[in-house]
Amino acid sequence: MNAPPAFPTLLSPIALGAHTLRNRTLMGSMHTGLDNLDRGVERLAAFYAERARGGAGLIVTGGFAMNLEALLDDHGPQLITPEQADALRPIPQAVHAEGGKILLQVLHTGRYGKTAQLVGASSIPSPINRRVPRTLGTAEVWRTIEDFVNCAELAMRAGFDGVEVMGSEGYFINQFTTTRCNDRTDEFGGSMANRHRLPVEIVRRTRERLGARALIMYRLSALDLVEGGAPAHEVIALAQAIEAAGADVINTGFGWHEAKVPTIAYLVPRAAFRFAAARIKRAIGIPLVISNRINVPEVAEDILAAGDADMVSMARPFLADPDFVRKAAAGRPDTINTCIACNQACLDFIFTNRPASCLVNPRAGRELEFMQMPAPTARRRIAVVGGGAAGLACAVTAAERGHQVTLYEAAPHIGGQLNLARAVPGKEEFHELVRYFGTRLDQEGVQVRLGQRPAAGELAAAEFDRIVVATGVRARRPGIQGLDHPKVVGYAELLSGRRQAGRRVAVIGAGGIGFDVAEYLLHEVADGGSPPAAEDEVSAFLTEWGVTTAPEVPGALQPPQPPRSLRSVTLLQRRPEKPGRTLGLSTGWALRARLEQRGLQTLSGCSYERIDDAGLHLRVNGEARLLEVDTVVICAGQESENALAVELRGVGIQPDVIGGAELASELDALRAIDQGTRLAMAL
Ligand code: NAP
Ligand code: SF4
Repeated sequence: MNAPPAFPTLLSPIALGAHTLRNRTLMGSMHTGLDNLDRGVERLAAFYAERARGGAGLIVTGGFAMNLEALLDDHGPQLITPEQADALRPIPQAVHAEGGKILLQVLHTGRYGKTAQLVGASSIPSPINRRVPRTLGTAEVWRTIEDFVNCAELAMRAGFDGVEVMGSEGYFINQFTTTRCNDRTDEFGGSMANRHRLPVEIVRRTRERLGARALIMYRLSALDLVEGGAPAHEVIALAQAIEAAGADVINTGFGWHEAKVPTIAYLVPRAAFRFAAARIKRAIGIPLVISNRINVPEVAEDILAAGDADMVSMARPFLADPDFVRKAAAGRPDTINTCIACNQACLDFIFTNRPASCLVNPRAGRELEFMQMPAPTARRRIAVVGGGAAGLACAVTAAERGHQVTLYEAAPHIGGQLNLARAVPGKEEFHELVRYFGTRLDQEGVQVRLGQRPAAGELAAAEFDRIVVATGVRARRPGIQGLDHPKVVGYAELLSGRRQAGRRVAVIGAGGIGFDVAEYLLHEVADGGSPPAAEDEVSAFLTEWGVTTAPEVPGALQPPQPPRSLRSVTLLQRRPEKPGRTLGLSTGWALRARLEQRGLQTLSGCSYERIDDAGLHLRVNGEARLLEVDTVVICAGQESENALAVELRGVGIQPDVIGGAELASELDALRAIDQGTRLAMAL
């Protein structure tokens, strides 16, 4: 008997206007930093082609400006001239050659722009941009509509299947649709119909100009999550007007960029905003796409099968694994390299002017570079010692390249420090990374020796061709008197569940792990203790961040109601600045806000004197203090665990040393996986 098809709804075709997609997955638009054509269109074409080859049903490019005022910055991608359109041709060609379809996103950044010629609906600046936009005159708004249409026409000239009109995340179009930043008195301001006129006219005129063949998608802000944002009835009215104007499909976005509610970070539960998508879906006749924090096919299938949406947008999951669809279709979702929503190599790279890549998939955005790496000249016997992130990435990639790999891990399970990360509430996605590596080791036939700590002599006797030392890090023991007191706990002991903390806790060290430990400690709440069940996780998240499902509330915001934590926690550092500077750019603000809401105290400028029965004695900016705590958790960084490398050199073997064993400072999973993968590519 044949097995039933995997993910039957997600992987079924869908008609969008004149087009039929092979399945219901959308690789949503994201800024990649690869789209600057000075850096070569081939790189972008290779990036999208790999995702089309892996089965993505539809792809949307990053945003292209339709005029100079629309640019995000002076180097942002633009599509204004026929020459620019012709230069883009290799992108749709490459996607079509793989059986995929691709839309170009037309984006006006409005008051979020970082250019001198910033414009907007009104001269009301955004809280996240110091620049004040110039109010566009009425004729200029009509001219901008024409620019949108011209850009769509150029996209068709370039060979794209159509366009996505970007009407969410607080960009230019949103600045017209809500009263928050539109105080106009002309036909584009005032009444709801007037505020909706801009997007409706863009879609209507684009359809008129391009005809039925072009696929037109509109990205609608399903929840603004800002004060003065649209209530649900206005969102639905806009969706219906956009449908009537001729769009084939409506995509969704959740939260403006200036919203104080996280919408894509790891601490957002999966499919957290499903309720808002379902509400729109019920009110329109054309297909609706749901987005945000959907990273596994099981969740996608559940949403579609329940009829809450018609397609699922996944941008980062396709960065993490271009073969997402192919693996799901093969009934092997366990082999998908799942996006863990860390933002560390995608958004955080973009924010620091680096082309996007992916923590779990260093090939992402570097497809040409990896393709050009030479194949191995011989099948080698390779020992990898250490089954943390660096060792796992190295072992899997080396085995993929045909080498015979043996992986040694001292613990009874793989994962190393990843196992500590996944114990932190909100970081459960790290489970997926450990699961992925485990499956891949198995698939590639890596010999895994758990609970083994081979000595240099044993490795030498086995006559491996190469030995990779990935033995990781050990926690630093700071020189503080009383470190052996029973109330002192190491972060690894705490996060692994080997030790418990009391009600009053001091955390020494405010790096990434100090914050993770604070999160862990403050997660146990007073009313009931244990964390919410999965089905309650979304409502707990919405309540904590002040998001309401009540349709009449503008912007869907209500006062946040953080849970009352069981503990009092003080996070300490020696440096004088405010703690948290080293956290991820796009996720750190949300973590800091959540911990502050839960009552985290922080102290900077600390010098630690001793720990005793009374608590932690310290000086804060020179002033003597006693923190009367039950537990002191040490999170004072790490040192390399590289004794094996020294021993190997002692017996005349030059090992390759990677990850924390090579350099403990600023080691994270991003560097570990990248280094492990790249070493394996060179073996
Ligand atoms: P870390 O970021 O280096 O922080 C170590 C902390 O310990 C600092 O606050 C440091 O600040 C303090 N410290 C250092 N030496 C000390 C000493 N001798 N006595 C007392 N305090 C001392 O290390 P980590 O927190 O262990 O994190 C390790 C790596 O994992 C980092 O690269 C981090 O970015 C990464 N990570 C990232 C995340 C994330 O969410 N992105 C989460 C976890 C870990 P002072 O010197 O000012 O006291
Ligand atoms: Fe996902 Fe992190 Fe990769 Fe970004 S870097 S795509 S968030 S796993």
